[in-house]
Amino acid sequence: MSRTPARPRDRRLSTALVAMGLLLVFLLLVGCGKDPPSPRPNVVVVLLDTVRADALTDGPHRAETPFLDKLRAGSVAFINTRSTSSWTAPATASLFTSLYPNEHGVIQGFVAHRKTMEIMKNRGDAALELNALPGNIATLPERMKADGYRTFGIAANINLGPEIGFSRGFDKFTRLDDATADIMVDSVAAWDPARTTGDEPYFLYVHLNDAHSPYIAHQPWYRSARDDSVADARSRYLSEISFIDGQLSRLADLLDLSRRGLLVIVSDHGEEFFEHGRMGHLPSLHAELNDVVFLVHGPRVGVLPATRPEPVSLIDVMPTVLDLVHLPHAEPSSGLSLAALCRGDDGASALVRKLNERTLFAHRLENMLHGRSLWSAMRGPWKLIQDEQNRSFFYDRERDSREQLPESRTEDPVGAGLEPALAEFRSRPLLGRGNEIRIPLDKKLSKQLKSLGYVR
Ligand SMILES: [Zn+2]
Repeated sequence: MSRTPARPRDRRLSTALVAMGLLLVFLLLVGCGKDPPSPRPNVVVVLLDTVRADALTDGPHRAETPFLDKLRAGSVAFINTRSTSSWTAPATASLFTSLYPNEHGVIQGFVAHRKTMEIMKNRGDAALELNALPGNIATLPERMKADGYRTFGIAANINLGPEIGFSRGFDKFTRLDDATADIMVDSVAAWDPARTTGDEPYFLYVHLNDAHSPYIAHQPWYRSARDDSVADARSRYLSEISFIDGQLSRLADLLDLSRRGLLVIVSDHGEEFFEHGRMGHLPSLHAELNDVVFLVHGPRVGVLPATRPEPVSLIDVMPTVLDLVHLPHAEPSSGLSLAALCRGDDGASALVRKLNERTLFAHRLENMLHGRSLWSAMRGPWKLIQDEQNRSFFYDRERDSREQLPESRTEDPVGAGLEPALAEFRSRPLLGRGNEIRIPLDKKLSKQLKSLGYVR
């Protein structure tokens, strides 16, 4: 039986049906091969108060930190990171705003002057005058929250409180003054941000204060040095850092960070053990106080392990975090995003040039009553410190990494250029004015400040 040949109209119809079928198969194949949209990464920033950079890296005074060593091997380690100050309030405010202390205005914090303490003793009515973060400057948690993150913060340092504005932008914020790292991690575990937030991403800020004085001797790391009080204090200090290390390991397991998000570990400032004649973190901007820790760990967001020698600062942390999770850069900002370096991008060489040519700064209020300050400027191997009498001291850190050989002037063009750069920096205006706050200085607060060494 012969078949009737298809008429042209039927042929057109069948061709169209075949084409539609092929398109359907193609769409199905493409659709099947595509992963479901991946959840946005969680972001955890841990600040290790008072941990000097060299306590984790080199030299004879290094803490035992097996967890951080392993983490570091899988992270971008910025080995030349500078603080913007040498104590908690201004440095952490720089972390939260990407601005320098003379731009965000938090220079005072919970430091009491001896004179104020004497007045309190005699009259019982003294108060601390603090400056708060200006309301018009968005903080890191505020940025994360605005972009859909659930935000959690926990801090063990008295400066990190709502009085100064550090609780702004957090859905949940707790300050547990002087709580040890095990208690802090227990508190995070009780919050269980991963369960609480479900599919929503979260931002968690943890501020650990263990390495701050008074130092507790932790076994098995503490080595008694009864005949040498400084060596003994240093051993207790390093044992605190080893203790933190174990708790960080617990925290990382708890949050499943390697797989699920971005972990940033920083310190706000270091600690002096008589490198420049004193102990603690009294007014000074030398290396043992100004050089800090900065690790970025995030295989989930494309961070490739590397050791980076470029000079960077706490002002760069916020832009880097935002960039790595694809949130827009915040303005105003004095920092730069280091995301290209973290991801090992091809275009990172332009950023490296910029970082090497940039001047970094730091500020420390020296005397509250007289408003005197210390300032520093750093570029390449050169560092300039101007003391409270505006005297300049230059250090060539290539041959004097511990800053023991001050020079009153230098012929080196990079070093000499720091003086005009610092003069320009010192004239920068505040970018907002925070509320001035008076906190009654009662006996409890006074005792707490004394135990932290926050009285001078
Ligand atoms: Zn601190």
